Amino acid sequence: MEKSATEGPPPGTETLQGVTAAPGTAAAPVARMGPRPRLPEHRPTVADPGAESEAAHRALSRVADGFDAQAGVLEGEAAEVLSALATMARDPELARRAGERAEGGEPAAWAVHASCDTYRELLLAAGGYLAERAADLADIRDRAVALLLDEPMPGLPDPGVDHVLVADDLAPADTVRLDTRRVQAIVTHKGGPTSHTAILARALGVPAVVGCPGAAGLRDGTVVAVDGDAGTVTVDPDPLRVQDLARRAAERRSAWAEHSGPGHTLDGTSVALLLNLGEGEPAEAAEHDSEGVGLLRTEFLFLDRAEPPSVAEQTEVYQRVLEAFGGRTVTVRTLDAGSDKPLAFVDTGQEDNPALGVRGYRTAGLFPELLTEQITAIAAAARKTAAHVRVMAPMISTPAEAAEFAELVRGEGLPEAGVMIEVPGAALLADRILQHVDFVSLGTNDLAQYTMAADRTLGSLSELLDPWQAAVLELVGVVGRAGEHRGRSVGVCGEAAADPLLAPVLVGLGVTSLSAVPAALPAVRYALARHTLDQCRRLAELALAADGPEQARQAVRAAAVPEVAAGDQVV
Ligand code: PEP
Ligand code: MG
Repeated sequence: MEKSATEGPPPGTETLQGVTAAPGTAAAPVARMGPRPRLPEHRPTVADPGAESEAAHRALSRVADGFDAQAGVLEGEAAEVLSALATMARDPELARRAGERAEGGEPAAWAVHASCDTYRELLLAAGGYLAERAADLADIRDRAVALLLDEPMPGLPDPGVDHVLVADDLAPADTVRLDTRRVQAIVTHKGGPTSHTAILARALGVPAVVGCPGAAGLRDGTVVAVDGDAGTVTVDPDPLRVQDLARRAAERRSAWAEHSGPGHTLDGTSVALLLNLGEGEPAEAAEHDSEGVGLLRTEFLFLDRAEPPSVAEQTEVYQRVLEAFGGRTVTVRTLDAGSDKPLAFVDTGQEDNPALGVRGYRTAGLFPELLTEQITAIAAAARKTAAHVRVMAPMISTPAEAAEFAELVRGEGLPEAGVMIEVPGAALLADRILQHVDFVSLGTNDLAQYTMAADRTLGSLSELLDPWQAAVLELVGVVGRAGEHRGRSVGVCGEAAADPLLAPVLVGLGVTSLSAVPAALPAVRYALARHTLDQCRRLAELALAADGPEQARQAVRAAAVPEVAAGDQVV
């Protein structure tokens, strides 16, 4: 509710309760999402039902094209979310229902609105994870209706100052376009902890509270303090509290700024801090303070094409990345196709369980030339630059596969071959795998999926997929010990590497490098620099002893250096 200085309860006494979605706190004025298009009260009479039906189809497909275009310039989870939305907007059943209504005499905008709403109701009635997808359909509806009514697209506000973004239910397409320099926190009226908003806010490091009914009453300009850990929003917080939050945020940023350059623990153990890269300008990425690239996702070169890129084209792209990073390390991952990353020219046939099927390195069995050509291109690019090039394969399952891959890489004159450890079987045999390769990198996203038998694309299973699960950390420890025994580097390049509270735990388990999105590195660097190796080992023991991910976080927070533990909760 909007309060003036002279009426209503004293500052800070109105606290709205929601659901915690992404950690951290922030205080700033509210800026609400742009309004949704509303159907005019008067429904016009339709002269040409066929034309209306066509217009409805065209609007839905333009909405889908728009999502695809946005997906094309993003990477990782953000691109996946947008591609999923495009698929939903292209659902033939949705188009058929809208077309049928238009043929029956409804104007296109009304027909699309009604058919999207029918679908939304079905999802809401199904409950749980499906109900949380209802926001996706509302977004598709609003965009298509805006197109049909020739109104501006509903979307993100741009007040030009730091703000807390408040929305009914933030659409995934908007969440991935957030300007994280301006958006200090997100509050939504609807949504649950596994909604796209929550997943993406966590990935972006923006505190978020979802499922907060009181958010509906928040007005533009009202100052709120958002506590993403407690799931609360304080309206008109005490100015002293706002100042305190701002001071702590500034202190934290300046503390981060004190540490730059190569990552290390308080007592000087090196932990290389690297970047995860996909599509995008390599020269820009190279400006971030990092020791190089820990994961170059090469899939971006292969997506949305009928044929794979030629060796010459690949060489050129790899060369640009290697040149941008000068003499730094660049770890190129060979094509990770299949399952959640399907490619038109990697037809693995009908699979009932694609995540357990022909994916990652396994596709080389069906399409060996895809892999050999890629390695040839990486080698050609490496010869032309000074970068320290490492090549690694995704989804290796056995020591034999690791040996086979290493032979291919070295056969092209590339000196450093490694593999990703994403399969529990490979983690258990890491010591034998490391007899064949120079390094390993833990893909904790897939490792969690396979360790916990939980589909990584299902938001409803997010707790099982949490890298703080003790079973996942046990496997990280097995790999860490193997690396120590063989004197080889053990990296983490899954989302886990971006969590500053988890970073010392991973190092305590024997991890020697962390690779994450650029925005995550300052906090991770700081967390490592504040703990000795022995402290990291102690934190690892605490995490391993916990019965669940939340208990593990709590135990580690209680024992971590206070500034790092607090930093996990305060922006
Ligand atoms: C992982 O699985 O952790 C990983 C880094 O690979 P991707 O997310 O691309 O499967
Ligand atoms: Mg993976």
